[in-house]
Amino acid sequence: MAGIYIHIPFCKNKCSYCDFHFSTSYHSYQEKMVACIIEELITRKETIANQPIETIYFGGGTPSLLTENELKKIIETIYKHYEVTPQPEITLEANPDDISTQSVESWVRQKVNRLSIGLQSFDEKVLDWMNRAHNVQQSLSCIPIAQQAGIQNISIDLIYGLPDLTLEQWEKEIDTALHLGVQHISAYCLTIEEKTALASWIKKKKINPPSNEQQAAQFQLLQQKLKAAGFDHYEISNFALPNFISKHNSNYWRGEKYIGVGPSAHSYDFNYRSWNIANNAKYMQGIEHKSPNFDFELLSPENRFNELLLVGLRTKWGVNLTQLKAILNPSIEFEQILQNYLQKNWLTIQDQNICLTEAGKAWADKIAEDLFVL
Ligand code: SF4
Repeated sequence: MAGIYIHIPFCKNKCSYCDFHFSTSYHSYQEKMVACIIEELITRKETIANQPIETIYFGGGTPSLLTENELKKIIETIYKHYEVTPQPEITLEANPDDISTQSVESWVRQKVNRLSIGLQSFDEKVLDWMNRAHNVQQSLSCIPIAQQAGIQNISIDLIYGLPDLTLEQWEKEIDTALHLGVQHISAYCLTIEEKTALASWIKKKKINPPSNEQQAAQFQLLQQKLKAAGFDHYEISNFALPNFISKHNSNYWRGEKYIGVGPSAHSYDFNYRSWNIANNAKYMQGIEHKSPNFDFELLSPENRFNELLLVGLRTKWGVNLTQLKAILNPSIEFEQILQNYLQKNWLTIQDQNICLTEAGKAWADKIAEDLFVL
């Protein structure tokens, strides 16, 4: 099984914390960009020949800015040139301000069966400094609108660890999210990315960065409340009700093959990783001149070992020790560090799968880095 990721590089606003690839001045070339994405899908079909496509994911940027006709053309191209399984998971990332009965009905007509909605917060002041294009009213009303228009698999994004966010405010945010009746919640700890407005405010001391202790306490509260509400914590930042885990993202984390089309999109093929240029004009130029602008790397056994470890450890399934050792035989130092974390009760091993314990979940990336082979 394989997946296709389509990056739609347009946004209405530049959010203050975001370093994804997008442009806010896209209107003059939106149609041309979609034509190039379609062209790329057609030219790259051989790279994933004979592998049924199980998941299609529109990410960005803001895919909910596509017109119905543009979405239709992209999906028709995939169905025409790829072998798609009978009931693929088709996810569209949408912002609350783009959600209306008409827009959701148009997405359903085009086979979209899962929405990932960028709510981020239910606090008007927070949405303001984030420079989001939506308000709290839209955050609250978009879910029932989407449900009534035919989407029964909805994920929302929330961000915690924000400057000045107290534990009490975060608890209120979680409670509001739980009342919405969604099947999936992705909750990300704020990271301060270089070259963002947020990074510059923090540098100029206009905003206080949150402490690690506050972020850890908010993460702990999140785990407790979502677990009590019946959500399965299946990846560090992802929680799902039974039968609603994201198939697309789970395939990434299990190391399945995928192709990514559109500017900045990444592709992965076990031994090989490639990424398109993160520049809209150069991306379109490359496609039009039949000389795509992308870069790639062949993955060494060390790269593959470390990557499997990093993504696997973040999931509830963990990382399989036999699979790791089939890539390369780790050093004695790896075994020592592993034993150390097992004794500390931050890791466990069940049926050859190394998993994080509840205590270890707060340190997932550090543990993985310590276990990396060089
Ligand atoms: S809408 Fe999403 S992708 Fe666009 S700037 Fe905001 S956070 Fe980034």
